[in-house]
Amino acid sequence: MKMEDLQPIGKKHPFIIAGPCSAETEEQVMETARQLAGQNIDLFRAGIWKPRTRPNSFEGVGKVGLKWLKNVKKETGLKVTTEVANTKHVFEALKHDVDVVWLGARTTVNPFSVQEVADALEGVDIPVLIKNPINPDLKLWIGAIERIYKAGVRSIGVIHRGFSAHGVSEFRNIPRWQIPLELKRQFPDMMIICDNSNICGKRETLQEVAQKALDLNFDGIMTETHITPDDAWSDAAQQITPAQFKEMTSNLIWRREGNGKVALDLTKYREEIDEIDQELLDLLGRRMGVARKIGLYKKENNISIYQRKRWSAILEKAVMQGAKRGLGEEFISQYLEAIHQESINHQEEIMKTADVKS
Ligand code: PEP
Ligand code: MN
Repeated sequence: MKMEDLQPIGKKHPFIIAGPCSAETEEQVMETARQLAGQNIDLFRAGIWKPRTRPNSFEGVGKVGLKWLKNVKKETGLKVTTEVANTKHVFEALKHDVDVVWLGARTTVNPFSVQEVADALEGVDIPVLIKNPINPDLKLWIGAIERIYKAGVRSIGVIHRGFSAHGVSEFRNIPRWQIPLELKRQFPDMMIICDNSNICGKRETLQEVAQKALDLNFDGIMTETHITPDDAWSDAAQQITPAQFKEMTSNLIWRREGNGKVALDLTKYREEIDEIDQELLDLLGRRMGVARKIGLYKKENNISIYQRKRWSAILEKAVMQGAKRGLGEEFISQYLEAIHQESINHQEEIMKTADVKS
């Protein structure tokens, strides 16, 4: 589908969205907005309906919060945006003059929901931002863009918020930068924003991730901002105060368009390699954690560390599976040898500590 008639959403570069993860009380919304109002932001965000992973978490204040957003507009002149996930949300948001709506990651992942929102937006002239789906599937992301476009919306932008993955990582949602960069390659004129809050999951790395996005020629950022972040009813660890937000944005280096242009493909491949290396390290760390548990079990049950049969089976299987992936036998055995040795070291250490304790 060619999308040559896309319209920009406001000024394109840099585009800044800030505001609380959730609208909680009128006072919290208004005060956050007041403190952000002087900061040259393009949109004030606040979640009204919150898609929470588990029930019994705070699920948003609902439509009463839309009245507060209206007051934000009236008092500060800021434009406002919120997440919509179904027909009712779209209807209420439009009724309360929300300026821009966004589709959350849990909506983009589901074509039924995206279509429902698209149908509700048919014939309505409101800009729509589309977050990436929670899983790293570029086609699903593009599919959502196409559904919204087919409904007649022409002001479309995307928000990169990272992708969920099992296991420990330094990110709440792994960025996998190669995916938004590929999207950017396919849709060079579409605004792309980095939601550093949902990528990081914690305050400490927000600036670093925002800078990375800007270095990759993203058009702007979306950052969760709260007057008292530690008391936030959702996503407390990743929110910052408006003052901290000001400090972060003033430290960012905003690349001018056309300036510092990156060799997109090479960067994309390097990002991919860096991320894979990072994941390999995470996995190795996890593997050693399991080895330590095995060490303890062997100790308690008086089994020797080295299990010759088990080791030969692992090696044989890996050589076979490696060959299918074009990996040489010598490489596989050296690689496994090194991992095995490290596992043994960990198990020995555990056994020694267990000895001392008993
Ligand atoms: C949010 O921005 O508050 C949110 C729910 O984000 P996501 O859809 O990216 O999880
Ligand atoms: Mn949030």
